[in-house]
Amino acid sequence: MVAYKISDDCISCGTCAEECPVGAIKEGDGKYEIDPEKCIDCGSCAGVCPVEAPKPEE
Ligand code: SF4
Ligand code: SF4
Repeated sequence: MVAYKISDDCISCGTCAEECPVGAIKEGDGKYEIDPEKCIDCGSCAGVCPVEAPKPEE
């Protein structure tokens, strides 16, 4: 399964972490990070991010 990944554009606002239905997003070093083992590729994080940082991985 494809997982979403958060780019360096992330401003660490935390909105995506609240929206993720499986709790895959945690605050990391300088930006938020998605656990690829938990992500179910729903796209909710991308939908709420103000800077479009979460992107589906190729
Ligand atoms: Fe969570 Fe969905 Fe974003 Fe994956 S795509 S990190 S499951 S909100
Ligand atoms: Fe970063 Fe966007 Fe998530 Fe905010 S919503 S923490 S800017 S990825």
